Amino acid sequence: MASSLSPSPSSLDQTLRDVDDYVLENKSEDLSWDTLHYVYELVQNGNAAFRENRMEEAINFYSRANNIKSGDPIILSNRSAAYIRISQYFMRRTPSSSECRPLSGLEPTTLAELALKDAEKLVELQSNAAKSYLLKANALLLLEKYEKARDVILSGLQVDPFSNSLRDSLQHLERVSSSSTGMSTHGQPERNDDFDCTLCLKLLYEPVTTPCGHSFCRSCLFQSMDRGNRCPLCRTVLFISPRTCSISVTLKNIIQKNFPEEYAERKQEQDGLINAGVDLLPLFVMDVVIPCQRFPLNIFEPRYRLMVRRIMEGNHRMGMAILDSSSGSLAEFACEVEITECEPLPDGRFYIEIESRRRFRIIQSWDQDGYRVAEVEWIQDILPPEGTSERENLLELTCNAAETARSWIARAKEVARHGSDCSFVPSPIGGLRRDWISYASEIPRSFILCF
Ligand SMILES: [Zn+2]
Ligand SMILES: [Zn+2]
Repeated sequence: MASSLSPSPSSLDQTLRDVDDYVLENKSEDLSWDTLHYVYELVQNGNAAFRENRMEEAINFYSRANNIKSGDPIILSNRSAAYIRISQYFMRRTPSSSECRPLSGLEPTTLAELALKDAEKLVELQSNAAKSYLLKANALLLLEKYEKARDVILSGLQVDPFSNSLRDSLQHLERVSSSSTGMSTHGQPERNDDFDCTLCLKLLYEPVTTPCGHSFCRSCLFQSMDRGNRCPLCRTVLFISPRTCSISVTLKNIIQKNFPEEYAERKQEQDGLINAGVDLLPLFVMDVVIPCQRFPLNIFEPRYRLMVRRIMEGNHRMGMAILDSSSGSLAEFACEVEITECEPLPDGRFYIEIESRRRFRIIQSWDQDGYRVAEVEWIQDILPPEGTSERENLLELTCNAAETARSWIARAKEVARHGSDCSFVPSPIGGLRRDWISYASEIPRSFILCF
C-alpha cells in the first residue's frame, strides 16, 4: 500500500490527535463504584499512553476497560482513535523500517478494520456526535474505501452541519482520493487515455498484455502482427499467437467495470466486424467457384489473415469472387463459401478448407481494413417455361458442360492409369465456370448439382 494513499497528517488528524477523558459518574446500574473506578483508571492510563504515543499500550488498557464495561462510547472512541493512529503509523513507515511488526503481527489493514468496528458501534451509540462519523470515515479512508468514507462524512454533516472537522475532512478526502489515485470523487478512475489502445486509440477491448508489458486490443495486436511479429510499441519480438494468447482478465474487468457503456460500445463495434449482417459478406477475391465445390486454401496475405480471423469468430462464411478481366472490377456474380476447417499456422498464416454454398449477386462493395465487403442478393433459380428458346439454350448449355466434364474426367483417369509423369490435365472448369457464372441467375441449381 503506497503511503501517499493514506491521509497525510493534516486536518483529518487534528481532531483525532487527542482522546477524550473519562468522566467518572455512576450511570451504570450493573457495575459497582469500585469497578467503575477501576475502569476509569484503565482509561486514564490508556489516555496517558496515547498521549505519549505508546499506542499498543493504550489499546491494551482500553481493551481491558472494554472487557469490563462494553459498549461505553468513550472507551470505543478512544480505542478506535488508537487503532487509527497505529495503523496510519505502520502504513507510512518506510520499507526498511518495516521489519518490526505492530501488535504481535497485526497488519495495518487489520488495525484499520478494528478501528472501523469500534467506530461503527460508536455511530450506533452516538449517532448525533460528529466525532463518531469522523472516526468511521478515517478508518474507511485507511481501508481506501473512499466512496464510503465520503458517505459517512456527509451523514455526519447532516447531524452537525457546522462541524469544521467534518468539513475539513471532506475537502481533504476529495484531495486525497483524486490526487493520489486518479479517482474521481465517485470512486471511478477518470476517463483519460490510460485505458486506450495505442493502435486504435480507443478504449481497450479484450486487452492482451504482451510479455514486454504493453497492452493492446486483441484484434489490434494481431492485425499488427500480420505484418511482423514485433510489439508495435517497443519492437520486442513476440512469440504469441491468437490461439495461445489469452485476454488480460483483470485489466478487462477493471475497464469493463469502470467504463461499462463505452466498453459495450466497443463490443458492439467489434461484433459488427465479425458478424457483418445477413446480406453482407467479406470477399475473398481469387477465382470463380460453383456451389458444392471443396478445396483447400493457404491464407498468407495480411488483409486476408485479418478477414479469416474475423470470419472464424463469426459465422465462418465469406464470398469467393473474381475480378472481371474485361473491366478489372469485381464480377457481378459470386458464390458464398463456408470455412469447414481452419488451421492457424505458427507464422500467422492459415490453412483453410472451404466448401461453396449459395450463389449471390453483388449489389455494392467497399473496402474494409484492406479487404472487400459486399452487400449481396441471393440468387433464386427460375426455370424458363417449357417450350421457350431460353429453356432450350439452357438445356443445351448444360448438356455441353456435362459432356465436357465427362470427357475431362475420362482423360484424367487415363492419365492416372498411365503413370504420373504427365499429371497435368487442364481443367475445363476454369473456362466454363466463367461462362456459367454469368448465366448463374438462369441455371437451375439442380443442373449444376447433377453435373
Ligand atoms: Zn485497439
Ligand atoms: Zn512492447
